[in-house]
Amino acid sequence: MLLYILLCLEIVLRTLLEIRERRLTQLRGGVFAVLRLIPLVNDIVPLPENRSEVHESKFVKLHEEGHKVLHHAVLRNLMKIAFWMVAVWFMAAMMVRWNASFIEAVLWLHLAAIPFRMLFHFYCWNQEYECDRYALEKTDKKVAKAALRELAACEIPYTALFALVYREHPTAVLRSQRILNKVISG
Ligand SMILES: [Zn+2]
Repeated sequence: MLLYILLCLEIVLRTLLEIRERRLTQLRGGVFAVLRLIPLVNDIVPLPENRSEVHESKFVKLHEEGHKVLHHAVLRNLMKIAFWMVAVWFMAAMMVRWNASFIEAVLWLHLAAIPFRMLFHFYCWNQEYECDRYALEKTDKKVAKAALRELAACEIPYTALFALVYREHPTAVLRSQRILNKVISG
């Protein structure tokens, strides 16, 4: 019973998040916005990030170099492996100790994963900020500002809260606030 109450709560909260997003960005959500409301389906719905190709500027290249130098991909993958190991343990515990059916165990896992996913996104965001700093140190504020402004123009604008729930990347606005301490307008 509790499981189904929580799933309904999830749908309500995601609906509120979508409404808030539509209001603040003035952009339509399309069919993906509807799919994001459905539990389990929303775990696999892709989130489009850019509306046009991002130009490979010097800053972008250095940012990518930062990911390599700081071994970010390895760290992310280790976190994913750790998550899946806990997930398998969680599923087994649900089914053996609590006599949950497979479907129920999957649904519980889906719910339990929501806060962990947000934490994972927060962790990824910090990696992105780290690489922006890396690129900034090798260039200057002017280059960084121009690159982030260009990125903001290519990017589909999302609010910070929406991005934290759904994206592994912070928005260009957040990134420029972080490294340049100012807001850029797309
Ligand atoms: Zn990056």
